[in-house]
Amino acid sequence: MGLLSNMTGEQILRIALPTPLRRLFDYLPPQGIEISALKPGIRVLVPFQSRMLVGVLIGVEKNSSVPYGKLKRAESILDEAPILPDDLYKICHWAAEYYHYALGEVLHAALPAFLRKASASLPIEGRREPRKVKSASTGMCVPEIGKEALAFLKNAGAVLALNSHQQNALDKITDSLNQFQTYLLDGVTGSGKTEVYLRSIEKILEQQKQVLVLVPEISLTPQTIARFRDRFNAPIVALHSGLTEKQRYTGWCAAKSGEAKIIIGTRSAIFTPFAALGLIIVDEEHDQSFKQQDRFRYHARDVAIMRAHYLQIPIVLGSATPSLESLSNALKKRYEHLILPDRAGNAVMPNYEIIDTRQVNVDESLSPRLMETMRQHLNDGNQVMLFLNRRGFAPVLYCTQCAWIAECKRCDARMVYHQTFKRLQCHHCDARLAIPTRCAKCNNETLAPIGVGTQRLEQALEKYFPDVPIIRVDRDSTKRKGAMQELLDQIHQQPRAILLGTQMLAKGHHFPNVTLVGIVDADAGLFSADFRAAEQMGQLLLQVSGRAGREEKRGSVLIQTQHPENPLLTMLLNQGYHAFAQSLLSERQQSVLPPYSYFAIFRAEAHSNDKATEFLRMLKEWCGNISSNVNVFGPVPPLLAKKKGMHAQHLLIKADRRSALQQFLQTILTKLEALPKNQPVKWILDVDPMETV
Ligand code: ADP
Ligand code: ZN
Ligand code: ZN
Repeated sequence: MGLLSNMTGEQILRIALPTPLRRLFDYLPPQGIEISALKPGIRVLVPFQSRMLVGVLIGVEKNSSVPYGKLKRAESILDEAPILPDDLYKICHWAAEYYHYALGEVLHAALPAFLRKASASLPIEGRREPRKVKSASTGMCVPEIGKEALAFLKNAGAVLALNSHQQNALDKITDSLNQFQTYLLDGVTGSGKTEVYLRSIEKILEQQKQVLVLVPEISLTPQTIARFRDRFNAPIVALHSGLTEKQRYTGWCAAKSGEAKIIIGTRSAIFTPFAALGLIIVDEEHDQSFKQQDRFRYHARDVAIMRAHYLQIPIVLGSATPSLESLSNALKKRYEHLILPDRAGNAVMPNYEIIDTRQVNVDESLSPRLMETMRQHLNDGNQVMLFLNRRGFAPVLYCTQCAWIAECKRCDARMVYHQTFKRLQCHHCDARLAIPTRCAKCNNETLAPIGVGTQRLEQALEKYFPDVPIIRVDRDSTKRKGAMQELLDQIHQQPRAILLGTQMLAKGHHFPNVTLVGIVDADAGLFSADFRAAEQMGQLLLQVSGRAGREEKRGSVLIQTQHPENPLLTMLLNQGYHAFAQSLLSERQQSVLPPYSYFAIFRAEAHSNDKATEFLRMLKEWCGNISSNVNVFGPVPPLLAKKKGMHAQHLLIKADRRSALQQFLQTILTKLEALPKNQPVKWILDVDPMETV
């Protein structure tokens, strides 16, 4: 075929559109437009199928592979200047290539919903040049800046003295502010990492630059934001899923204009435009919420590093339990490793004690030792926190007569027994059922809820500790808007209380009165088939433990397990996270798993399992001789092989080099995309998957 020359000489707009197709689309320019004024990066409204779509101009071309007569004309030009700053535009291109995702969708994801709509007339801010936005237009207050550096700080006198490790970390980070460097700030919980962030931010603000702070979904609480607001006298914008479209757009404009100085946001905030970004901080960099698990499957930490690289600015990855990827980069000296080994101030690390639950009588999953220790801490007027990563009343409804178990009809999963709502619920597809009184198989009234979830534990605690306030934090207790905040307020108002919850409670919070943490069941992560399971188990255990004794009072951690001799568990508790992580890294190296190899997964979903399998077998055949540096495993069903009535299969691609993986995927995708439309199989590609089973 090749390019057909365009006899009319009229130029062609090459446009990225928000469709899953990884290609660009050609249009004729709107009538009467000065072509030379059109810059790549502006938005264009075009007809697509029967709709109008907002696309982004990628280039102006002389020729198209579409015959001239078939080209449609663009409806209108929406911007005078590119809508995204250059570095963000480049990052979108990079991400589209790296994750093999449609550029149009990536660019679309980077735009606030307000600017993606064909119908909305453009709000005036979007048309203006960056930097010229008046503060009044976004309704934000801007303090007088620039006269003296300390004008940024509130209560400058009250700022505490850094310890030598913090000072060293701060010096390293702020030593070379105008070049790219990745720092791994590796400090135990309570070691004062946040204090190091705050001091680094101060230096950036002095330079009239902006800072982006990425935090996990769970920890972007009003407390987090308050800590920044308490310290800085500069405009701060928080970007998270709870915002209205208008609020999000306002924040976006304030970052783009340079008016907002500190942007704190969850994953997607990495695609915020900045006028003068000077530093990126990724807090709790190991957290899985940085990886988007559907559609555009990017990892915000990895995109952030690339963005810092494009901008030639420093980036700080902070964690008490760094990911093995980041640790291995630090060991290879690709990242500068900054270690804060001790808790800041007077706080010391907690005591650990393992309780072997095989040896004792547990009642509603509470061992006598745990209960007795809880009593002591409560009697001393302190808070106790119990961690159980299983919401609902009981994970299983079981027939004591015939061993039948209530399962979801649409998923390979058991229905969870919820007593407060009086129903069975599937935690994967949200299917709900009234609680049956009779067994579906033998029809006897012999059904019993088995196992303990947070609701059941709460009930047991009410029985054993009738005079102690019990505060439960999980997805069910925080569903209502504002509920999480109310629970957190309660926690701060009740010096003596039992806090009980899932990882929602365990991560990131600072509860100064908690002196005892009880891990009700440490075994969940010990025996999973996923190669990351052990790493995640260790991270979660230490994060939870980190809630104990964060101030003057020494904390204790009690861990209930049926596997007290498990070598990983004992290494974690006796030798600490670094030894644990080092041992996991050696295992990964021996088995050539990431970060010593590079993974991608093709996931196929279909109404029939055979169709999904067949599809991936075909793919595997194509893979045949493409590259000797790439291995293909599968198809295998994932752990949750059936979800919402769809059957899934995985094909795992493993390469010894990143470039080999990328080339390989490109070859396969080109073939896949040439298949006729309307396949009975839906497929997705996940590069650097977090979950492999
Ligand atoms: P992390 O972010 O590592 O969990 P934080 O920065 O939240 O640690 O610090 C934990 C606690 O220690 C906070 O109450 C903080 O105010 C305090 N802190 C931090 N640095 C110091 C210091 N140098 N001296 C005394 N207290 C400190
Ligand atoms: Zn039965
Ligand atoms: Zn289900």
